[in-house]
Amino acid sequence: MRIDIATLFPDMCEAVLSESIVGRGRKAGYIEINCHNIRDYTLDKHNRVDDKAYGGGTGMLMQAQPIYDCVMAIEGELPEGAKPRLIYMSPQGKTLTQGLVKELAAEENLIILCGHYEGVDQRVLDELEFEEISTGDYVVTGGELPALILCDSVARLQKGVLPNEDAYSIESHYNGILEHPQYTRPEEWRGRRVPEVLISGHHANIKKWQEEMAVKVTKEKRPDLLKK
Ligand code: SAM
Repeated sequence: MRIDIATLFPDMCEAVLSESIVGRGRKAGYIEINCHNIRDYTLDKHNRVDDKAYGGGTGMLMQAQPIYDCVMAIEGELPEGAKPRLIYMSPQGKTLTQGLVKELAAEENLIILCGHYEGVDQRVLDELEFEEISTGDYVVTGGELPALILCDSVARLQKGVLPNEDAYSIESHYNGILEHPQYTRPEEWRGRRVPEVLISGHHANIKKWQEEMAVKVTKEKRPDLLKK
């Protein structure tokens, strides 16, 4: 799978995506992620990529031309016949869920646009038919952090990035419920003991406890998930 991020802050994205599990997955070739600077595509002699919004308003808006040319350049690098899914990170989009992450992880190519300032000129969104995805009902200053969340969640589902499918398939949200509580050494800490069943070595009982606890914590923390 290949993901391309179009952003005004490629170093910010690169810094995060070079670290830890995703960074290792990229190095090992399990996923390709490229960060592109939209500013490289401006035709403005002063390198500007934004301007005031028509109709007024306080902030600046990203212009259509550099975004369009950046996306065209990325598409030009893809193999013939590739049909990248074009995503604009936006607080107005549909919410990113594990279900949507699974769907995106099955794509060959994603191109992710990060807005900044007041957002982007609507015409480029309409022209390229961007799909809008939000990380939640709040507003952050730019699309980079939301894009990084999307990339990380999609990357960890690629074969080879995590040691095996178990590493993510029993985690919260993968099957619609939350994961059971987990414990590590020592067996006792500040008077709190690890549940006896987990150190019993009885695999069937451990599995039963984990399943029951997963339902219990979901009931307590997110009853809405069980209703679904
Ligand atoms: N004026 C826009 C509005 O009210 O819908 C918000 C602009 S926001 C300050 C700047 C950029 O951050 C957006 O263009 C978008 O790319 C990104 N962004 C902000 N909140 C987001 C969210 N919850 N999910 C995804 N992207 C978000």
